[in-house]
Amino acid sequence: MSIDEMTKRYESDDGDVLAVDDLSLDIRDGEFLVLVGPSGCGKSTTLRAIAGLETVSEGTIRIGDRDVTDVKPKDRDIAMVFQNYALYPQKTVAGNMRFGLEMTTDLDESAIAGRVEDAARLLDITELLDRRPRALSGGQQQRVALGRAIVRDPAVFLMDEPLSNLDAKLRTQMRTELQQLHDELGATTVYVTHDQTEAMTMGDRIAVLDDGRLQQVGTPMEMYYEPANEFVATFIGSPSMNTLAATFDGDDVLFPGFTYEPTAAQRDALADGLGGDSVTVGIRPEDVVLADEPGPRTTEFVATIVEPMGGENVLHLRHELGEVVATVAGGQRVREGDRVRARFPADHVHAFDGETGEAVFNRTRTDEPATGVVGTSAGRDGDTLAGGSDPGDRP
Ligand code: ADP
Repeated sequence: MSIDEMTKRYESDDGDVLAVDDLSLDIRDGEFLVLVGPSGCGKSTTLRAIAGLETVSEGTIRIGDRDVTDVKPKDRDIAMVFQNYALYPQKTVAGNMRFGLEMTTDLDESAIAGRVEDAARLLDITELLDRRPRALSGGQQQRVALGRAIVRDPAVFLMDEPLSNLDAKLRTQMRTELQQLHDELGATTVYVTHDQTEAMTMGDRIAVLDDGRLQQVGTPMEMYYEPANEFVATFIGSPSMNTLAATFDGDDVLFPGFTYEPTAAQRDALADGLGGDSVTVGIRPEDVVLADEPGPRTTEFVATIVEPMGGENVLHLRHELGEVVATVAGGQRVREGDRVRARFPADHVHAFDGETGEAVFNRTRTDEPATGVVGTSAGRDGDTLAGGSDPGDRP
């Protein structure tokens, strides 16, 4: 399906709100695409426009090859799963699952019953079919809401923060289940969330929106290694990428109290790519390296906060140039107040135009099989891995 140059303006007495600004997006058949961004960036509006629950101000929406821009929601061949499951309390699970089908299709009774049974089996809720929603846990209700969508056998699933009412553990479990479900059904899915972890772990591709505008669309690894701008760089990844203001003097990147010497390629990129002399240097907390020895791209900090996470420690390091967050292995002791020497390894550094935020260069991308990988499969994700795992190629 595709969205072409879609703009949505809400008109109100207090003035117009530009909720989505000239959005174009191709979503491949069978793909799991995650729309992610902060609250108010236009995710739900986009999803509701695809569903036909909002009219668009400008632009075209196609599902398959069909222009559905002016087609009624019920005729778009989509099914939607919401954050609040909106189950009918007086209907049983089976009744909830079949209700939408009865309203929108002319399938006969046995076909409807068959679909409900199949979906219930897939979701492992067969034994709940006669219960009413109030006798179900949140996770079970979520499954019923999914079941109601699945029985429709739609061309496209639209999901709006479907896991946000679940507790953390269940959310993680449902994340995995949704992915497995998607692998089994193979249906195109557009999934809205504000949570970058959900986006990274679930999406074949991720589209990041900010302020109604598409910032970047790509695989999780592209978003992480090759962010198009500072917004995407800091939105994706946790803890967030450090971004530090500096100036480029034609040779070096100058911070207060620290000089970063770019590689030759980085220097060329800065000379070509920067609009002025202001540059924002980005480095992820996991890429800051503690250093035994003084050396290039290395400086001293004071640890102001140490957050022990068990497997790793998150250090807040103070310097004239600003605060830098670094994650280090949990077994290494750093105390608050310790002086800490740390390096910005050249191949881990990003640079953004200080005025526009556009990426000038990104860190070196690695995609090596991990130590311990003794055979390679055509699994999900890893757009460069062997086996043609481009989601568009999947059956
Ligand atoms: P998100 O889902 O990313 O949180 P939304 O798509 O809900 O964002 O909203 C995008 C923008 O449009 C926000 O500024 C929001 O306040 C505004 N908006 C959403 N729905 C309406 C509406 N019905 N009327 C007026 N403004 C709206």
